[in-house]
Amino acid sequence: MSDVIVEVSGLHKSFGRLDVLKGIDLSVARGEVVCIIGPSGSGKSTLLRCVNLLEEPNAGTVVVNGFELTDPDADIDKARRTIGMVFQGFNLFGHLSVLDNLTVAQRKVLKRSAAESEAIARENLRKVGLEEKARSMPVQLSGGQQQRVAIARALSMQPAVMLFDEPTSALDPELVGDVLAVMRQLAEEGMTMLVVTHEMQFAREVADKVLFMDGGVVVEEGPAAKVIGAPEHERTQTFLHRVLNPVHANE
Ligand code: ADP
Ligand code: MG
Repeated sequence: MSDVIVEVSGLHKSFGRLDVLKGIDLSVARGEVVCIIGPSGSGKSTLLRCVNLLEEPNAGTVVVNGFELTDPDADIDKARRTIGMVFQGFNLFGHLSVLDNLTVAQRKVLKRSAAESEAIARENLRKVGLEEKARSMPVQLSGGQQQRVAIARALSMQPAVMLFDEPTSALDPELVGDVLAVMRQLAEEGMTMLVVTHEMQFAREVADKVLFMDGGVVVEEGPAAKVIGAPEHERTQTFLHRVLNPVHANE
């Protein structure tokens, strides 16, 4: 079995005449946490969406857990099952209880029995600290709790890799910590993770590798201590100065 879980090569994506991704190379090894940082509009979400083929790349290849998703003959639904995705908005099914949110795809897609899917769901709710909310409806939960449910739902499919697209940026500041704590714990347990985030402290402490994207290219990549602590490129320095000194953001 390969130790590279995500391999993106020469990825290009445009919307009409707008070139959003201009040749991205990226690899995530088993058990690695890779964080992507960069200004709004630099193509971070588009990159993640190409990794699970929610967007179809114009050129380049995406291989996840040994499946080439960009192969025209690929069974995309099957390949996608190995990818967990957590978005900025929580995307829970509002008409289903927390428990049903976690079991529905296990039953329908993975054909697990009701008993097995419920056992796996409860184990993952425990992991995110929300076992007692199994019977709640999403609307009864805080944003932070909903996001932890979304993480537990993705984990219940037992993915080979988890993709996170700014999972804390829609949350009230006091709710961010609980979600980051869950992500930190997943990283410690060895989950392979590709995380788009503006949480520089999290990236510094948890990421094995950080990529700085701007204008549809990876400008700089390396260990967090280097890319965030001592960036080489002026664009990286300017971006970090802005996010680390938000008071000056509008100057
Ligand atoms: P980021 O996540 O880094 O903020 P995005 O990947 O969301 O950046 O967007 C990059 C660029 O692509 C932006 O200019 C955005 O407006 C454009 N874009 C994203 N999705 C679409 C789409 N479905 N159709 C047209 N343009 C899009
Ligand atoms: Mg985005």
